[in-house]
Amino acid sequence: MPMRPADLELVNAKLPLAEDGRLHTLKIGDGRWLSVEPQEGPADVGRHAPIAQLGLEALGEARSVDLQGRVLLPGFVDLHMHLDKAYSIGRVRNVSGTLLEAIDNYRAAAPEFSKETIRERIVRGAREASSYGSLTLRSHLDMPLQHGRDVAMRTVEAALEAREAVKDLIDIQYFPMFFYDPALDRELTEFAEEALRMGIDGVGGAPHLAPDPGAGIRWAIGLAAKHGKPIDLHCDETDDPSMKTIGLYCDEVIRYGYAGLATAGHLCSLSAMPQDEADRLIAKMAEAGVGAVTLPAVNLYLQGRGDRGNVRRGVTRVRELLGAGIPVAAASDNIQDPFHPFGRGDLLQIGLVTAYAAHMAREEDIVSLLRMMTEYPAALAGKTDYGVAPGRPASFAVLDAGSGEALFQELPASRWAYNKSSWIGASVQRRQVAEPRRFASENAPA
Ligand SMILES: [Zn+2]
Repeated sequence: MPMRPADLELVNAKLPLAEDGRLHTLKIGDGRWLSVEPQEGPADVGRHAPIAQLGLEALGEARSVDLQGRVLLPGFVDLHMHLDKAYSIGRVRNVSGTLLEAIDNYRAAAPEFSKETIRERIVRGAREASSYGSLTLRSHLDMPLQHGRDVAMRTVEAALEAREAVKDLIDIQYFPMFFYDPALDRELTEFAEEALRMGIDGVGGAPHLAPDPGAGIRWAIGLAAKHGKPIDLHCDETDDPSMKTIGLYCDEVIRYGYAGLATAGHLCSLSAMPQDEADRLIAKMAEAGVGAVTLPAVNLYLQGRGDRGNVRRGVTRVRELLGAGIPVAAASDNIQDPFHPFGRGDLLQIGLVTAYAAHMAREEDIVSLLRMMTEYPAALAGKTDYGVAPGRPASFAVLDAGSGEALFQELPASRWAYNKSSWIGASVQRRQVAEPRRFASENAPA
């Protein structure tokens, strides 16, 4: 069968996940990869438009683009964000830097935030993230039901409207964080089921913060299973080594046969507990098929606030989880809000923080880090046709670096993103540096 003509050809691309160091030519037709072929050497540069010289509009018209040896990766998947809270740091502060103050202050301010405000935060966060190369996002959503159903529903509506506004650019999944209180079981269940009917993707929560975490976990997975939805819980985001809700979660995941549909974020206490106990829980996660998400920037900021001297930093046991065969995603968590004053939705920045926090820098670690930003979160997000391979959606980022390692060395500002049959981002940084004086030896008279 003759291959259909390509809508777009890319040459001289480096594919660090292919681990072969070669340049590649890739062809795209109808929004999907038609072919991905290694080159014998650099492609003839004259025939192809150099990417760095094209703006978004010119890129849209180019049929053949020269990546000039730059890295191409499938679009990053930022699996754990809080886009509804993003950029609220100007309105809600956190003086102690603790998780509990962030929760209290945000909760107190929540009724003030209009649907428009929340919608704009999500749209802004999604656009920023896409400009850095993240093309699939999962956002947890604050559900302040203690302020009444209308305040919580405002967030659900804002989230769905924001998703509609950016759907030609980027995919977003939503996981509302339900706080389970047995006394309010019926109201909460009704609300959650309505949100799921409206288009919410899965069930979230933070059961370690509830008085009865076991009841919260059973309620959440029961609801998810009833509606055939995935579940993604904040787990054990505390320095307290006795907090082990992950064990209860794994029991329920096994009971419901929810392997591959269940994700656990944070797992901070895992890093604070004795080795044998952590080993036991990690083995249980592997057995249950629960995926993990590390949120290193936020946990380095929030955890260990009560410690003096040897300060716990709260980042979970990334290498040990990976070593047990558990897919581990690295994700942004909060952006410029009381839970985390920094961050910008740039998953490469989070990858670098992960590299420091988890002591990952060997050649094979670089590939693991890239997988934690791409393939692992894609699998946890249920994306079955993800990656740079013929037949799959051509959804990718190009970054201004020549290798996986160089990505982390340079955190390149120049990046391009392509999704849903169009270039959606082209950011080119121009750095100018003055010339140094000549060395004395070079100044010697001839
Ligand atoms: Zn979170």
